[in-house]
Amino acid sequence: MRRRIVRSVRILIIEDERKVADALARGFRGEGHDAVVSASGEDGFFRATTEMYDVIVLDLNLPGRDGLQILETLRARGNAVPVVVVTARDAVDDRVRGLDLGADDYLVKPFSFAELSARVRALLRRGRSDQVLRLCVGDLELDLVTRRVSRARRPLTLTAREFELLEYLMRHTGHVVSRAMLARDVWGESEVGGGRATPIDNVIDVQIARLRKKVDEPFARRLVHTLRGVGFVLGENAP
Ligand code: CA
Repeated sequence: MRRRIVRSVRILIIEDERKVADALARGFRGEGHDAVVSASGEDGFFRATTEMYDVIVLDLNLPGRDGLQILETLRARGNAVPVVVVTARDAVDDRVRGLDLGADDYLVKPFSFAELSARVRALLRRGRSDQVLRLCVGDLELDLVTRRVSRARRPLTLTAREFELLEYLMRHTGHVVSRAMLARDVWGESEVGGGRATPIDNVIDVQIARLRKKVDEPFARRLVHTLRGVGFVLGENAP
């Protein structure tokens, strides 16, 4: 049973120049990061909106959907992922527009990988992502800073209570979590009957069922397990 707190960075590179994209991806992977390359505006936009990244490296001049359009749409939708714009256009107008549209940094081609890497590090230090703190169990990830949850990179939409419940289960991965523990620690119930069924038990069961529907139902492998009369265990293997 694995529970990891991960500080490696996930980077999306939206760049249609194959050689440039490959060199950047190689560089980031060499630093121990997870780099994904997207070679068109459409694909890049799709990934940026459906998968979770810590940083996006965005070329402006792209086939399909222009980099500035991607940036504008992401920000309009409230997506605050740090973006470094890289482009051959060194016109001041584009630089200003990029920053106006919410780019966090800007690099003009040609640049060295070391320079980009330094900018990305600076961005992660200064931005919210410097505190990237995730709980991971298998392909399930919970980001404590952005409060986002994903499984197999697909974002899951949880209510505040479901998030707290999942966080608690993930912090106890591989261990039995009783209803009494949940009542006390997640629901803040001070009066928890010793072994007796209480009304809060029904509430917990309903919430667990809802959580399971989101976290487990669409996926082949089950993570939330019920031990009848005892409680729940979160883990990759059935207890
Ligand atoms: Ca390009």
